[in-house]
Amino acid sequence: MTANPLRDLPSVDALLRTRAGEALVEEHGRQAVVEMLRAVLQEARAAGKVADQEGLLEIAAGRLGRPPSLRRVLNATGVIIHTNLGRAPLAEVAIERVGEVAAGYSTLEYDLVVGGRGSRHDHLSDLLSSLTGAEAGLAVNNNAAAVLLCLAATAGGGEVLISRGQLIEIGDGFRIPDILAQSGARLVEVGTTNRTSVADYRKAITNETRAILRVHQSNFRIVGFTAHPGLAALAEVAGGDLALIDDLGSGALLDLPDLLDEPPARASIEAGADLVCFSGDKLLGGPQAGIIVGTAAAVGRVKRHPLARAMRIDKLSLAALEATLELYRNPAQALAQIPVLRSLGEPAERVRERAERLCRRLGGELAATTAKVGGGALPLLELDSFACALEGGDELAAQLREGDPPVIARVQEGRVLLDCRTLSDEDCDLIRP
Ligand SMILES: *Cc1c(COP(=O)(O)O)cnc(C)c1O
Repeated sequence: MTANPLRDLPSVDALLRTRAGEALVEEHGRQAVVEMLRAVLQEARAAGKVADQEGLLEIAAGRLGRPPSLRRVLNATGVIIHTNLGRAPLAEVAIERVGEVAAGYSTLEYDLVVGGRGSRHDHLSDLLSSLTGAEAGLAVNNNAAAVLLCLAATAGGGEVLISRGQLIEIGDGFRIPDILAQSGARLVEVGTTNRTSVADYRKAITNETRAILRVHQSNFRIVGFTAHPGLAALAEVAGGDLALIDDLGSGALLDLPDLLDEPPARASIEAGADLVCFSGDKLLGGPQAGIIVGTAAAVGRVKRHPLARAMRIDKLSLAALEATLELYRNPAQALAQIPVLRSLGEPAERVRERAERLCRRLGGELAATTAKVGGGALPLLELDSFACALEGGDELAAQLREGDPPVIARVQEGRVLLDCRTLSDEDCDLIRP
């Protein structure tokens, strides 16, 4: 006779009454423990396994004690702004500001001078003006929201002109034509994929035209026989009648020709754009946000649009963004303290030293690599970098992902590459083979 595994399994109640069961309830709450024990028992039953109380409780404890779903990882990919890995790490001062605002009440919508209601849209206006030369500015949930809001506020119900070379998909299904459709504005395509002229824009203007949208070709480049009018030329076409919107995508606040081939937001304002928008967590190095700067009139329309309420920024992001933007008042400070800019600007020699140390500790081999900016920014920019290369391929890469903290690495020709441009000294110390 064989034992009946079903009859031999303990009941949920019996498991709860054990010492270990009580300890689990204490830590995770009764509901969660009961559900987990049921699931574990069910699995044992389905597998026809005879399991003792201790074993079942251990399995349940292991699963209940799982790390959170959203957790810190180490980025060993060499992609600095990695959208899947949360884009930009925050500067120390930004993290502190978030802590302060999160821990208590704040002036989110309170005016200390008046002693009454204020607007969350006002916190960044002066700072953004001084950093970009714009008359006014605000931040919303992200740059996709910023583009949508700018279009809805200036061109809802009318037509928007955009070059065929700029009808792009940024990634993860974010397509400019779809955003346009959602804004209530009608898309009017101008020119061709590789060439669009000022005359193409002029020809397309009708009584219904409300705006011209220029979109930064974030994640690709068209090279060869190409031409697109500059923003100043488009400002002339727009005159005072049409709104000129410039979606910079990543956006930069500093002019860093040695580091980045990316004109700063100030250049778009100077060229005559009415509204300029860009992300908070790409090259800016702050939290997820969409930043909108422009003329007082255009920014005012954006603020008053009903969608602004649905796309507003939360207080924690706002706190991090203000602290990050404050760093930009002193460019040297921004370059030294904002992690994204620090990673970008770090001399390859220093990355090499870090990779060599990691190699010595893990028994790896030094490998020259190419790091990338990522985040749909500067697709052609390649940064000299160095990695610690380990034998072990996909299997080792999977093992590293199971570590605490998990390490996300690249596998190339059967070797795991730990790229040190995106790993700090402290990160490296946490990697265990
Ligand atoms: C990334 C990007 C966006 C979207 O920005 P999010 O902050 O990710 O919402 C919009 N436009 C361009 C050109 C971009 O590069």
